[in-house]
Amino acid sequence: MPEGDTVLVTAGRLHRALAGARLTRTDLRVPAFATTDLSGQTMLEVGARGKHLLMRTDAGVTVHSHLKMEGAWELRRAGRPLPRPAHEIRAVIATADWTAVGLRLGILEVFTTSEEAKRLGHLGPDVLGPDWDPDEALRRLLRDPERPIHEAVQDQRVMAGPGNVYANELCFLRGLHPSTPVGSVRNPDALVALTKRLMEVNRTLGRQVTTGDTRRGRANWVYGRRGEPCRRCGTPIRRLATNEDRVRYWCPACQPAADRSQT
Ligand SMILES: [Zn+2]
Repeated sequence: MPEGDTVLVTAGRLHRALAGARLTRTDLRVPAFATTDLSGQTMLEVGARGKHLLMRTDAGVTVHSHLKMEGAWELRRAGRPLPRPAHEIRAVIATADWTAVGLRLGILEVFTTSEEAKRLGHLGPDVLGPDWDPDEALRRLLRDPERPIHEAVQDQRVMAGPGNVYANELCFLRGLHPSTPVGSVRNPDALVALTKRLMEVNRTLGRQVTTGDTRRGRANWVYGRRGEPCRRCGTPIRRLATNEDRVRYWCPACQPAADRSQT
């Protein structure tokens, strides 16, 4: 699942290919924007805010997309055929040299760039953005003390960027059972600081490496490791699906629950 660092890397690739170039063709395959045509406009920049991708043109237009669970942007040299299957294509944005193809996008919409702040105003401080504010992130994190930490830490209104992989890994690294209420977390400021540190490490990698080991299958402590031995203590990792994108993984020995019914 794409998290803030993945989106930042995607934005960087798109920016290098498209920024400064005139758009020769745009095709937005969602009903509300099917007739929107940005051709003739120049792409000023492609940026990210948390998990949101923002393409801005010189006509004051922003194309906002979100990868959600399975979305991606692919870059192809101009003239090369579009990827298949065609029904997965949500957006085609072309310049003389490149074609950017948005696949399986969770959100695709167009609005004026001046509306961006309002449209994305619900987002908390962007962990990898220039406006990062750990005090504000902490304030937002502590707003609902009853809430499970695993849920709160990946709420984009608290911090923009971290998703379910980071949520699980942060709980492990801080020794917290995922269901721990936010109000019972000791040193929540250290949790916020660790979020920043982990995501910065992966800023240019675009993968959620939390162990320091980039090899496949070694990158995470608990995420995706149900039944496998904890890398610290050997206890089998547990998994609980609370809903589709909030699957919890934890080591019952390293992350004991305060309430024993939850182990
Ligand atoms: Zn363990």
